[in-house]
Amino acid sequence: MLEARAIHKSYDSIQAVRDVSIHIGRGETVVIQGASGSGKTTFLRLLAGLEKPDRGTVWQDGQVVVSADECVPPHRRALGFVFQESALWPHLSAADNIGFGLESLPRGEAQIRVHHLAHLLGIEELLTRHPHELSGGQARRVAIARTLAPRPTLLLLDEPLVHLDRDLSEQVMMLIRQESQGLNAALVVVTHDHDEADRWGGQRFRMIQGCLEAVKSYG
Ligand code: ADP
Ligand code: MG
Repeated sequence: MLEARAIHKSYDSIQAVRDVSIHIGRGETVVIQGASGSGKTTFLRLLAGLEKPDRGTVWQDGQVVVSADECVPPHRRALGFVFQESALWPHLSAADNIGFGLESLPRGEAQIRVHHLAHLLGIEELLTRHPHELSGGQARRVAIARTLAPRPTLLLLDEPLVHLDRDLSEQVMMLIRQESQGLNAALVVVTHDHDEADRWGGQRFRMIQGCLEAVKSYG
């Protein structure tokens, strides 16, 4: 469903992502662990078409979606992105943030979807609040609900469990897994945290100074 070949991105003298290739099928999970500054966010932004590569190509369902010449933006690709910083719309309530990608649905249906996800994430009481009235962990859950709401078939998550304590992070991980399985979506998670990477399961990779290496699983 998603294939990247030899994607490369430099910022002046920094080679942030070096000729990275990867293939992800529908329903599969890929987890990329790497130190801060290793290129994880840049790689996800390249896959999402939010950043143009210097060279390389990304295909989604057989179509070129990213190259040095063109980038198809996320909303035209059934792609959901959770940003490292939650990046909520400050002028919108939590409910309107979650419903942001649902304008093509009838209003009643959109409301049902918003409330369903808010219920699963334990943020129903917060729906009328604005982002500045939310804690980091609450904003994180609003951002995750917003990403899941339009039922994407490709999910790119940048440090999704940051700001969540251990119990909450378990619950949110389980919910993301269930939703992505229900959608038969491809899931790409990046994290600096080894323990979190282990807990996600799936195919494991390590990012080191812009290079992606497969991690063998033992046992
Ligand atoms: P990670 O997400 O793994 O912490 P990033 O992808 O954010 O890493 O950054 C990888 C490298 O690219 C870092 O050296 C960072 O400083 C650099 N970088 C990222 N974005 C930019 C940018 N817009 N301009 C210049 N340098 C950048
Ligand atoms: Mg990052």
